[in-house]
Amino acid sequence: MPRDSIYQPELELALRQRLEEQAPGCLFFASDVTLVSEVSGEPVVNVTDESGRQHQIRTEWVLACDGGRSPIRESLGIGMSGNTYMQDWIVLDMIEDPDPSRFSKFYCSSIRPTVSVPAPNGGRRYEFMLLPGEKREDVLADSFLADLLKPFRDYDSSKVLRKTVYFPRSDGRQVQVRADPPPWRRGTSHPALCRTRDECGPPRRP
Ligand SMILES: Cc1cc2nc3c(=O)[nH]c(=O)nc-3n(C[C@H](O)[C@H](O)[C@H](O)COP(=O)(O)OP(=O)(O)OC[C@H]3O[C@@H](n4cnc5c(N)ncnc54)[C@H](O)[C@@H]3O)c2cc1C
Repeated sequence: MPRDSIYQPELELALRQRLEEQAPGCLFFASDVTLVSEVSGEPVVNVTDESGRQHQIRTEWVLACDGGRSPIRESLGIGMSGNTYMQDWIVLDMIEDPDPSRFSKFYCSSIRPTVSVPAPNGGRRYEFMLLPGEKREDVLADSFLADLLKPFRDYDSSKVLRKTVYFPRSDGRQVQVRADPPPWRRGTSHPALCRTRDECGPPRRP
């Protein structure tokens, strides 16, 4: 099935513009939620802003979109379960890719499992599994990446949008995890826990 995707910086800009239209001045950046509590049946959120000022926000709903290590999930005692893979993977986002295919490609190679995924605006993401003995700090060098990309395209560092190594957390919970119980709502109480996830990789042939 062809794959569609959204370019995150564009989505974030659109969300930000819409929020600023609907609720001017209500967007906080570089701020920490320190507590979510319930007072007289209503959720109250304590926030410390960039300058250290404390705020209390009374609201109807709280959406806890605070990531995989979600402090709010932990404070609600919601566990995590699911599967992960234990290998490190290079993630390489390239612009102006010569492969116009809208299909994701999985190379179940016994030499090096590889993924190639169409990205927005004519780009493509390549993912390469690290092999035993390869070190995170070495594999992002231009010469190493140029070798990996040879079967797919020429390497040009000016066409690299992002390069990083994606590795499992020390507790093994990096990919394909879910919050238990269902993340969108827990009983009748607030807040609702939100989490996005979309990760997959090819199996490694023995
Ligand atoms: C290298 C890499 C590549 C990836 N590529 C893709 C991809 O192509 N497609 C895809 O779908 N997914 C991809 N993912 C996974 C994707 O990044 C995550 O699934 C996604 O970011 C999860 O979104 P989230 O909003 O749940 O959490 P996050 O993006 O982790 O956002 C949580 C936010 O909450 C903030 N926060 C936490 N605690 C507090 C607090 N107490 N107060 C205030 N703020 C707080 C954090 O600072 C953070 O900004 C990739 C991940 C990595 C590491």
